[in-house]
Amino acid sequence: MKVYQEEFDVRTSKRTQATDITEKVEKIVKNSKVKNGICLVFLPHATAAIILEESESGLMSDIEEMIKRRFPKGAGYEHDRIDDNADAHLASGFIGQSRIYPVKDYELVRGTWQRALLIELDGPRYRRVFVNVLGE
Ligand code: ZN
Repeated sequence: MKVYQEEFDVRTSKRTQATDITEKVEKIVKNSKVKNGICLVFLPHATAAIILEESESGLMSDIEEMIKRRFPKGAGYEHDRIDDNADAHLASGFIGQSRIYPVKDYELVRGTWQRALLIELDGPRYRRVFVNVLGE
């Protein structure tokens, strides 16, 4: 089995922000020369998340606003006694810090609207994205 790995950085500009990283992930899959397998998209971060969703600008705003409503900042969290970002940790943990796509015939298998969105939850920051492509 072949294991191919690349990583890249994303600069975010808001505290809560969805960023479409699909094209970078697809380029890495192409670079991997893996014909059939899986593609892991992973963030080494506890205050960011990855989801597979449509990148229409209105929906990306809806995602950002829903996260703020579901995980309100400063809602009496214990972690805020030592840091000020418990809401970001909770959203990151519950949404998830990785996703997996199948790879078939050298390409990601995804529905038209299943783009890879990095969700910044405690920005602005630089975020690193690891992409591992495994297969044959
Ligand atoms: Zn913290």
